[in-house]
Order: sequence, then structure tokens, then C-alpha cells
Amino acid sequence: MFRQTKAMLRNLRNLRLRGGQQSAWRLKSTSAERALQYRAGQKIHGFTVREVAPVPDLFLTAVKLTHDKTGAQYLHAARDDSNNLFSVQLRTTPMDSTGVPHILEHTVLCGSEKYPCRDPFFKMLNRSLSTFMNAFTASDYTMYPFSTQNGKDFQNLLSVYLDAVFFPCLREQDFWQEGWRLENEDPTDPRSPLMFKGVVFNEMKGVFSDNESVYAQHLQNKLYPDHTYSVVSGGEPLVIPDLTWEQLKQFHATHYHPSNARFFTYGDLPLEQHLQQIEEEALSKFQRIEPNTDVPPQPHWSSPREDHVTCSPDALAPDPARQNSLCVSYLLGDITNTFEGFTLSLLSDLMISGPNSPFYKALIEPKIGTDFSSVVGYDGSTKEASFSIGLQGMAEEDTERVKQIISQTMDDIIQNGFVEERIEALLHKIEIQMKHQSTNFGLSLASYIASAWNHNGDPVQLLQISASVAKFKQALVENPRFLQDKVKHYFKENTHRLTLSMSPDEAYLEKQAKAEEEKLQRKIQALSDSDRKEIYEKGLELLAAQSTTQDVSCLPALKVCDIEPKISPTAVQMGSAGGVPVQFCEQPTNGLVYFRAMCSLNTLPEDLRLYVPLFCSVITRMGSGDLDYRQQAQQMELRTGGMSVSTQVVPDSTQLDMYEQGVLLFSSCLERNLPHMFQLWSDIFNSPHFDDEERLRVLVMRAAQELANGISNSGHMYAMTRAGRHLTPAGDLQETFGGMEQVKFMKRIAEMSDLTPVIRTLPRIKKHLLNPDNMRCAVNTTPQKLSDTAAQLESFIRDVAINRKQRKPARANIFERPLDPLDESGPSRKLISEQNFQPCQMKTFFQMPFPVNFVSEIIRTVPFAHEDYASLCVLARMMTAKYLHGEIREKGGAYGGGARMGGGGLFTFYSYRDPNSVQTLSAFRRGVDWAKSGPFTQQDIDEAKLSIFSAVDAPVAPAGKGSGRFLSGITDEMKQSHRERLFAVTHKNLVDVAERYLSVGQRTCGVSILGPENETIKKDPSWIVK
Ligand SMILES: [Zn+2]
Repeated sequence: MFRQTKAMLRNLRNLRLRGGQQSAWRLKSTSAERALQYRAGQKIHGFTVREVAPVPDLFLTAVKLTHDKTGAQYLHAARDDSNNLFSVQLRTTPMDSTGVPHILEHTVLCGSEKYPCRDPFFKMLNRSLSTFMNAFTASDYTMYPFSTQNGKDFQNLLSVYLDAVFFPCLREQDFWQEGWRLENEDPTDPRSPLMFKGVVFNEMKGVFSDNESVYAQHLQNKLYPDHTYSVVSGGEPLVIPDLTWEQLKQFHATHYHPSNARFFTYGDLPLEQHLQQIEEEALSKFQRIEPNTDVPPQPHWSSPREDHVTCSPDALAPDPARQNSLCVSYLLGDITNTFEGFTLSLLSDLMISGPNSPFYKALIEPKIGTDFSSVVGYDGSTKEASFSIGLQGMAEEDTERVKQIISQTMDDIIQNGFVEERIEALLHKIEIQMKHQSTNFGLSLASYIASAWNHNGDPVQLLQISASVAKFKQALVENPRFLQDKVKHYFKENTHRLTLSMSPDEAYLEKQAKAEEEKLQRKIQALSDSDRKEIYEKGLELLAAQSTTQDVSCLPALKVCDIEPKISPTAVQMGSAGGVPVQFCEQPTNGLVYFRAMCSLNTLPEDLRLYVPLFCSVITRMGSGDLDYRQQAQQMELRTGGMSVSTQVVPDSTQLDMYEQGVLLFSSCLERNLPHMFQLWSDIFNSPHFDDEERLRVLVMRAAQELANGISNSGHMYAMTRAGRHLTPAGDLQETFGGMEQVKFMKRIAEMSDLTPVIRTLPRIKKHLLNPDNMRCAVNTTPQKLSDTAAQLESFIRDVAINRKQRKPARANIFERPLDPLDESGPSRKLISEQNFQPCQMKTFFQMPFPVNFVSEIIRTVPFAHEDYASLCVLARMMTAKYLHGEIREKGGAYGGGARMGGGGLFTFYSYRDPNSVQTLSAFRRGVDWAKSGPFTQQDIDEAKLSIFSAVDAPVAPAGKGSGRFLSGITDEMKQSHRERLFAVTHKNLVDVAERYLSVGQRTCGVSILGPENETIKKDPSWIVK
């Protein structure tokens, strides 16, 4: 995987400094306490302890060590969290755009000394109960993280990871498969034309089919033009074919060395055991080297620069005449200065976040562009940080105006500073982030410290967030102009800044295709006859290797008997407040309260359904009661951890043609702010503002832009949603709410010159939705806070009782299910039943400006409670691992692909960033034939089960406990019986369900492809081309 600045940036900005999880949570952490007993200078298994630091805010103890012989660095975060994490990161600083670190990241996972089978990494996905396994390449480091809740599994995975990173085979064949190769289009036919193939080659073509990625990459390359940040670490598609296998091995020898490595472990497993295993299996075999991978400081420019790049036009952009981007990017200080980095990231938030920030007011609200530029705000993922500000979706003639506004806004900030209440809101946000607990805390920490640590910053200092907060407050007291002075220094007076504009070029894709063709022809012309023969033979060899069954017995594995036979139940209590049913779930929430409300859509007229996602995205952002939208946003930031509304389509667990439709309200707050949070909801129920057309237009534009931008990353989701559209009523509604139909609808709305019709529609939707008569609630909080929360919820419901009204459902067939299955006469969920629904076959193609395809085929099968459901789950997993991965990724060159079984009864095939289109549909069909012929072993079945259980048993945070039951009515008892069915699945069951549900003739299926112009599909009348 290639992780760009942009993605890193989002990652850092969205970092939740979250606590661990589950009932093991307590304020006095025994793991953290035990770790406090280490002493600086202490020697353990070849390491020396350098520092032991308690971090009470995050309930952990940090232990910093170095490896004596190699100088490898090590950080352990001891914490009472069973979701243990390991990561090793190497500083990888390439000086060309061949993608060498990225291709290396892929090839080390293809087999190693101790584990020489092909692809041990993917094989381990099925032999482990890991909660996370991945690898990714950033601009200046490569990271290999995994997490698991099982101690034995941790040791297994650690062994495989260490061997992969430090002792990979790096076979030439792995390099061809993962990097690039010349090969006959049909490898079995030496007369078919030669072409470029390779996983990373195609992956990077996919990455740069996204204009946001193109822009982010150029921006970084041009702002730091003098060293490693001036190249594409993931690989520039046309430069990738310049890389040789020798260069790849050389890069490994110099960069993947313990002297250039940083190890991080997290969780409740003992540190000594990790150190011993790492020393014995890897580090003891190395001597210290001088890796020379330091990144020098970027020389400062004496005057600002400007540059321009082009991209492909976006067919789905809200306004085709406005597709330009422009931003100004400033080089800031070194990220190893922890406090300066902390200050600048807070300053960035104050400058750009929310409708009260100066840049939102100055750039977004005048509607010069559709949204901020795709790179915006503070970015600490490079050795020296940067800050960017600008717009996308703007007209070319507004260029000077935008530059002028940016400069003027900086001046205004220097002049006026920030309102104190906004600083207070920001510190409140940090408090919530530290208290809110998530399930992947270890991974968040690893990402959070990775960049600064990579350049020898102090990771322990980064964790001491309270210390930074205190220092920040003190700085403001000592100098009220503290922040203004920073703006003056880093922005106003900074001559190292780049203004980068980007505009669409109609011929962009054509030029790219031409450049690739020229590169290919140059390579081909240089070939002798014997080279061609060798290419053909190597192609066949690779194909043969990909087609042979692997002996994977060298790999460690958990067994099905290592899986807990019983689920750990989640206790909930049913109650009511003002006549509205409420589910209470007591959880160790660390002082936070989580609130959910499901509001039914059953009475909403059909013609308003398409508007519901728009309604959801604006209802909490237009102002309510006495608050205008700015004051409302301010109150939400000051008093809550966020308030959101989203659409829900919940398929029934017993019948395919039945589903529940609604919107889900969700919010959280610190206990002390509970009355304020409910007051904000009351205002939204009782007197939401809809009539500010200017405000609505800003929200609509941003939403439409975001949807259009998302397709190139999530094309498989859109393909799947479309393919399922005509198979079940729930699938149809999902397309309406979140498919291509919704994207096109939002584009139309964004293009309307007069939004009055929308403004008239929103209050109509509100009447049907925000009605206590069609509502149920859920609360997760501590036992101590439960009764107070219940009382406040009661008064909230009283406050909004004026909205209570009995309305007729828009569809006749309403079916009730009790919320508590043991209490048939109690409150119920109201589902829609469409017994007359006729599923139909439909093949839809969306032509898109991408060089790669997203392919999906979906088959209607059985609902969750059906006895065959578990077999279909295991079958999907096994087909993915044992057949489809090999066909679609290894042979086909797609970035990913496989099968999955969904709760709505849809068996789904998909591929991601796929150079093939209809050929992939044949691979799906061959997968079914493969399954029916049953060539798999008991070991294969057990592996599929392990892989499924690692998802089924993934940890759930206190905020999310019981929410599945609340939404879908699936109780612990139902989960337990599904679990027992999963355990019981046999070879015969799998062959049977493949025959019964997936065979041609037996099935009703939908197909959808998003991709570039396609001659085969155009000529085939069975396709609908959009
Ligand atoms: Zn990759």
C-alpha cells in the first residue's frame, strides 16, 4: 500500500487519542504499573533501557530502549489493552521515482528464509486471529504493523514479520509479479502483444487516477525540491519500468537493517518476551552499520515560487467550468520540535476548521470554489512540516482573487487574533480525544509517533499531551499575541512558499496513454529475439508458479480450537423515556456519554427519499433555535464530541424482502455537558433553520464535491451498491442513499441556480423524521451516570413532544418485530415488507475517467438467520483466499479482489483497481466452478473459519457496544447460534451451497463495472451503459 501525504494528513488530523477497551479497562492499569518497575540502564535481552515514563493521561507507561549491538530503537507502551500491537518501521528515503521502497514493501511479503512459501503475508491472514495486518510506504519510511488479542498469535505473526522484513527471499519472480514486467497480453500466446504488468505498476496508475492524489504529490515534490521529497516514493507509473531487480536488492541491504529500524510494541503482553524473540530471531544476526538515511533540511527559498500542473477533467464535478485548484503551501519548522508542532497543528485548526474559522469565512462562504483544496492545513508527515491553504472547484479567472484573499486573511489574523471561546473549544476537543476509547489505540499511537520518531524526534514527549496543553496555555498567558506572532513568522514573513495551481486538460488521459505506449515501444524495440523468447518463457513460469498449490506447512497457525466457543455477551437493559423505547448499556466509557436515536422513514413520501442524505448532512449545520449556524457550530465544539445524522438501511435477519429504513442520530459528550447536548438536539427537533439559501449552497457544494472526489478511491463500493440494486428492496434503497444515483442527484442539486425548491423540501422531511412517535434511543454510559442520563433523556423527549404525531406509513406492508425478543407485547421496530418484489438481472456500466476498473457481481442468496448463511460466509472467505486472490491480483494484476457474504443476503464478488473488466467476470464464474468441484482441504476450511472469526471477534469499543443489537435487532443468542453454525460448516456444505446458490441457472445476479471506455461492453447489448 502506498500512503501519500494527503492520506497521512487525514490520519493525523483524525487521530483520536483513544483509550483501550472492554471490561479490562480500569484507571489503575496493572500493565502500566508493572512497566514502571523498569530502570534506566537496565539490560534486557541485548537491549538497554533508556527511559521509563508514566503517561497517566493515556493510562500507559512508555519504555524506551536501544539495541546494544545494532543501535535499533525500541519503544514499548504498556497498557491494559488486550489488542496488542507490533510495528517495525524503516527509514526509506529514495532518490528516484521508480517506487523502489514501495515495490520492496510488496516483495518482502512474498516469502522469506524461514517461510519460503509464496506470499506468507496473505497466507497468515487465514492462519491467525489478527485484528489488523498491513504494510505501507510513506514518503520517508515503510511500516509493517499488526495487532491481535491472542498471545500465541502475537508470537506467530511477529516471527513471520521479522523474517519477512530482515530475511526476505526477494526472488526475481516476486519482483516481476509485484513490481513490473514486460509480458505477452495473453501469457500463453507468444504472438499476443507485449505489455507492462505488475501489481505496484497498476496500483500507482490507480492512485494517480485520483486528481486529489495527483495534486498532493506535485505539491510535496515542488515544495521540497532538493532531496527525497522531490520524488514519488510509491512510484511514478512511467518511471517504475526503469527499476531493476539488482537495485531492489541493494535498497533492501542498505535500508532494511536494524541500525535503520524503529520497533514499537503496545498492549498488555510482557515486554521481555517481545525483546527476547526480536533479539533471537532477527537482531542477533546483524552488526551495526551507518545507514546514512538522514534527510537534510530543505534549503530555504529567498523568494516565493509559483507553479502549474494539469489533471484529467472530472465528469462528475458539480460545475464543469469550475475545475481549477489553487493553494499556497508554506514550509514550517522541523517536526522533531514537539511543542512547536503541537502549537502549529492547533493554530491550523483555528485557522481553517468549521464555519467560525477565518479561512472558512474568507474562502468557502463567498463560494469562489466548491471546497478547500484537497491538501489543506498542517501536515507533519515530512521532516519539516508544511501548511497549505486554498480552494478546489474554482474558475481560472478567480486565481488572483484567491491569492489576494489568502494574503488578506493572514493579515486579518495577525491583526485580530482568535476569539477566546474558539481556543477553549479546541482544548475541549483534545480532552474528549484523550478520553474517548477506540479499539485500535495501539495503531493510532504507532501512526501518531511515526513521522517525528523517524527523524529522531522523542516519541515519549509526543505522548505527553497534557504537558503540551499546559505549556500552550502558559504561552498564551505570557504573551496574548503568541498565536498572532506565529502567523506573522510562519506565514506573513515566510519566503519559502509555493503557489500551485492545477487545471483540467481534455487530452490528459490521452497524453498519459501515449506516454505509456512510447515507453513500452522503446522497451520493446530494445529487445532481441532471444529476449522476447525469454519474456514469453518467464511469463509461463510465473503463470505456472501462480497456479501451483503451495505447501504452507512451514507457516505457524492457530487452530479452530483456539477460538472461543462462546461469544462474550453484552448486557443491555430496555426501558423507556416519555414513551420512547430506550436501550441502556452500562460501559466503562471514561467519563463520556454516547447517545443514539433511530428515526423511522416509514411515513416519508417516496418522492422525498433521494433528498434524505442531503437532509442528514445539513440538519446539524444550518443553525437551530436562537443559534445561527456559526453559534451552533461553536456550541457543538464546546459541549460535544460531535453530532451527526446518517441514513440507515437495515435488512431483516429472516426475510430478504424485508428491511427497516431510517436515519441515525449520534452524538457524544463529557458527562458534565449532557444537558447542553440534549438542548442542542431539542433545538434541532423543534426549530431547525432551513431558510438560509447561501448557507445551504455552501453545504451542498462541498457535499457534491466530496462525493465526486470519492469515486476513484471507493469505486468498488459504488460498483457493489449498483450491482445489488435490483436484487432486494434494501439493495434498491441503498443505491438511492449511497450509490451512483445519489452522486448524480447531488451533482444536479449543486448545479441548480435557485435552491428554493430544496429549501421547501427539507422541512417536509423533518416533519416525518424528527418525530418521537417513530423513534427509539440508545445510551452507553457508566453505571454511575445511568440514572441521571435516563432523567435527562426523559426531559429531552418531553421537550420535543410537540413534534409527536401519528402519520400513515407511505407503504402498506408494515411488519413489526419486538425490540426485546422475550417480550412480544413490548415496543417494536417497524419493518417494510415487499413480498411482491421481483429481483431482476441487470448489467450496468459507468464510463469513468480512470485508467482502471472496479468490477462487481452480486448474487441473491439467503438472509442472516437461514441455515446456509454461515456456509456462504465461509465459502466467500475461502474462495477469496484460495482462488480469487490468485486469479484477480496475482495473475490479473488488480490491486485487490475477492468475495464476501453480506447481512442482506447478497453474495458479492468484487475487484479493486483492476486492469481487466469483463475478464474478471469470467474469473468470478470460474471461482464458482472451482468451489463446486470441491478441490479444497480441511485445512483450507479451517483457515477460512479463522479468518472469519478474527472479524466476528474484532474488539468493540465501549461507545459501540450493543449498537448492533440496537440497529438490527440481532441479539447475543442469535450471534451465538450463527457462531455455532460457522464452527459446524463442512466440506459437503460448501460444495452444496456453491451448487445451490451460485451456479448459473440457480441464481439471480446483478453486475456493475466502473471504468474507462470499453469496446467489448459497448458492442454487447445486454449492458446498460451510463
Ligand atoms: Zn502497495
